[in-house]
Amino acid sequence: MHDVIIIGAGPAGLSTAFWCDELGLDTLVLEQSEQVGGQLHRVYNPINNYLGLKASNGEELLAQFTAEVDSADFDLWTQTSISSVDLMAKRVSLASGEELQSIALVIATGVRQRELGVPGEKEFAGKGMIESGARDRELFAGQDVCVVGGGDAAVENALLLAEVCPTVTLVHRGKKLRARPEFRERLQSQHCITVFTESVLTRIMGGERIEAVEIQRKQGLKPFQLAVRGVLIRIGVEPNAELFREQLETDPGGYVVVNSQQETNVPMVFAIGDVSNPVAPTISGATGAGATAAKVIASRLNAK
Ligand SMILES: Cc1cc2nc3c(=O)[nH]c(=O)nc-3n(C[C@H](O)[C@H](O)[C@H](O)COP(=O)(O)OP(=O)(O)OC[C@H]3O[C@@H](n4cnc5c(N)ncnc54)[C@H](O)[C@@H]3O)c2cc1C
Repeated sequence: MHDVIIIGAGPAGLSTAFWCDELGLDTLVLEQSEQVGGQLHRVYNPINNYLGLKASNGEELLAQFTAEVDSADFDLWTQTSISSVDLMAKRVSLASGEELQSIALVIATGVRQRELGVPGEKEFAGKGMIESGARDRELFAGQDVCVVGGGDAAVENALLLAEVCPTVTLVHRGKKLRARPEFRERLQSQHCITVFTESVLTRIMGGERIEAVEIQRKQGLKPFQLAVRGVLIRIGVEPNAELFREQLETDPGGYVVVNSQQETNVPMVFAIGDVSNPVAPTISGATGAGATAAKVIASRLNAK
């Protein structure tokens, strides 16, 4: 029996574990990946907005987090696959058959990139699919590329790629781009970027690598093919909450609903970080929520 089981070891889960240790709680962290850090592994931009620490990318910030966390005394199991969770009973069943029990559960499972779900998207992973404009743009320098999405992430990536690519085609389903005004303004002055609104990318094609995409402009019009060598998709994220969704309250987007103490509608089950933050997901938000959950759990256990 543990005091606390934390599911997920991104910034939110690590922060909770760190605080739980400081507050004297017996803590176990379960992480499905080989490594801790969550989305930090995919942050290639400088992180200048985490007060007190600056880092040239997510890996560098993570190194600073883990240096602190390594000195803490909690159990961390990576590559751990959870088959089911009974939230009321605070029981976690692992794919290995092992059953774990705690007094409090903390859900810190974050979000994942939403997929487009079109033919070619999975097949061309590593063969022309661009993971990040910041990381991959030198690889795609001199090549025509396509970016899908209309928010900040899509437009920011299109702008980065436009610095090195002869053409960038931005395909957005909606009538207007949702990106912040500053990015939209910069788009106007980038003549190599073509924006197709009310359009969808319907297929990614090629041989060994991506050679073209199929785009459907406005409903009813015939799709056309565009020769490109790279495709980057940024159409938002979705919460990793499938394991719990049937047992607690979620919002229409599937995010876990919490109160000001980070507690869900199931007593002693907490949710922190991006999985419960559809509005303003940030590293500082995630670590702060982790601190809140740990302090609330400690005060409840100490009051017993
Ligand atoms: C490209 C990019 C740039 C960003 N730039 C910034 C920035 O400059 N500043 C900023 O503040 N934020 C930035 N962010 C956002 C920031 O990275 C996130 O807000 C933060 O990582 C959220 O932390 P988290 O712990 O809630 O979730 P995550 O980082 O998503 O971590 C969740 C963890 O849970 C694990 N997990 C999921 N499901 C399970 C399961 N079933 N069992 C066990 N483990 C599970 C995952 O493997 C992962 O390790 C950026 C994000 C991206 C993608």
